[in-house]
Amino acid sequence: MQFADLVAEYERLEATSKRLEMRAILVDLLRKVDPNQLPPLVYLMQGELRPEFEGVELGVADSLAARAVALATHAPEKAVTESLRRTGDLGTTAEELAPKRAARLEGEPLRVDEVYSGLTRIATSTGEGSQELKIRILVELLARATPGEAKYIVRFVLGKLRLGVREMTIVDALSFAFADGSKEARAAVEAAYNRSSDLGLVAEKVARQGLKGLRQIGIEVGRPIRPMLAERSPDLADVLKRMEGRAALEYKYDGLRVQAHIPASGPVKLFSRRLEQISAQFPELIAALPSSIRRRPAIVEGECVPVDPETDELRPFQEVSRRRGRKYDLERLQEEVPVRLFLFDVLLEGTTTTVDEPFPERRRCLEGLVKDTERVRLATQRVVTSLSEAERFFEEAIAAGCEGVMAKSLADGSTYRAGARGFWWIKYKREYTHALADSIDGVVVGAFYGHGRRGGRYGALLLAVYNPDEDRFESFCKVGSGFDDATLEALPHKLKPYEVKERPESIVTELVPDVWFRPAVVLEVRGAELTLSPIHPAGKGLVRPDAGLALRFPRFTGRWRDDKDAETATTTAELLSLYRSQVRQISKPSGGEGAP
Ligand code: ATP
Repeated sequence: MQFADLVAEYERLEATSKRLEMRAILVDLLRKVDPNQLPPLVYLMQGELRPEFEGVELGVADSLAARAVALATHAPEKAVTESLRRTGDLGTTAEELAPKRAARLEGEPLRVDEVYSGLTRIATSTGEGSQELKIRILVELLARATPGEAKYIVRFVLGKLRLGVREMTIVDALSFAFADGSKEARAAVEAAYNRSSDLGLVAEKVARQGLKGLRQIGIEVGRPIRPMLAERSPDLADVLKRMEGRAALEYKYDGLRVQAHIPASGPVKLFSRRLEQISAQFPELIAALPSSIRRRPAIVEGECVPVDPETDELRPFQEVSRRRGRKYDLERLQEEVPVRLFLFDVLLEGTTTTVDEPFPERRRCLEGLVKDTERVRLATQRVVTSLSEAERFFEEAIAAGCEGVMAKSLADGSTYRAGARGFWWIKYKREYTHALADSIDGVVVGAFYGHGRRGGRYGALLLAVYNPDEDRFESFCKVGSGFDDATLEALPHKLKPYEVKERPESIVTELVPDVWFRPAVVLEVRGAELTLSPIHPAGKGLVRPDAGLALRFPRFTGRWRDDKDAETATTTAELLSLYRSQVRQISKPSGGEGAP
């Protein structure tokens, strides 16, 4: 196929925003092309050279492309800059400056496969001298291109091809081009795409073998599956009703969704929710997964969450987002933002594709597959059959630092629905957009020894509030954040005078620290919010009989309240009033007992 013919279609596509018109143009185009030319054509249409998950990048910066335009068109670089200032698009500039046909170098018109292989060579030239090589190939292509062709080549290399063709429009077009365009045909094409995430592959298969051929596209290690998505619900009663009174509730971890592909041999690959490869950003997961997964090959899915290695508690999502897209400083970040992967599904195990199994089967399989390690764990799950059980589990999830729960259907039809959103999974979270109104002055009642960088020092402190009615100290959090190195160094010395061998009678807590302290030292902490907690006894019974209050995501402000003694620290009553004054945005637990 001549590249000019493709460019003519690009222009038609760009000129319309109507989906049906786009589809008609695509159907025409797809039918015109030989099946083995379909994959490149489909990738080019999406502005890619390969399926997106392969992460092939051309590595051409704006300045490099501008130089290539100048060289290919024999225009001074100044002329390119001036035109670019006016057009704002180097593609249009290339079109403007490209010599008209009569003045162009002799040569055959460009074919699509030549453009594709030229672009592929640009993408694969790396290392020393690669910039020059990239320029040379681009100049060669541009020198042979018509002005209109030059425009699209330049836009393509800069990742700015804006044809407006969405992947589902291509799915639609394929079902019309190579089948009858019925609902069933479209569903079959879409399902093949959802399993493979590779529209080029789907196009070639359906063109050669029709819908029948699509069934051969299975799940493969190294090729991500489009993720199953959840619906939401306003309350837990509704969740249970939709799941016919019985559901598996899981902690809804707040982090990054990760699909991990563990081949029989060779390196593990990690894909994000958008199916980008994120393997390089989480070397510790790549290293940990083979020993945490008992059988290979396997494809498992989970949420990657920041954890505090000192307290073992979950940290806010924002921290893990610092690790996304990073190319440098990976080692330092690995130490600063340690993560843990909580696995919640399995899509392939050995030679068995598990996506078509109902969820209880997959969970059983996952439980047999995962060996809990420091970096990789099984997502916490409980099967509930009543609202009170569901509410209890929800509160536990919040207290553990999660943002809510994921309810999963246990019905026979609860297969893994790649790429689909439905009520087989329901998310129920509590938003907490308002930070706690005030800081809290907590009494240090215990310390936990540190790990890793904090080895040999204290890693976290156990804090309590004062309950004057009972004259006792009730724990409300374990704090490990906000301490700088100098403070950490000084902690044992500072707290030494208050160290005691056993828990003093006046301290109430479910936790057992490595070192106990007589209540004396007070420090200031802030946190995201106060939540009901089965672990911390502060104010137990004041909101609900069996729950106390805990501070979520506590952080030392850096301020020692040396001006306070233990009895003038924040009291249980104050903690309760802080809890009640929190502005809850939406979705309090149904039944509302726990809500202010
Ligand atoms: P969505 O992914 O539904 O489009 P979103 O990106 O805004 O929406 P959320 O609303 O936070 O994400 O909810 C869904 C996400 O929750 C999942 O994609 C997954 O990353 C995450 N998640 C955390 N824990 C679980 C779990 N136990 N099971 C399934 N997903 C979980």
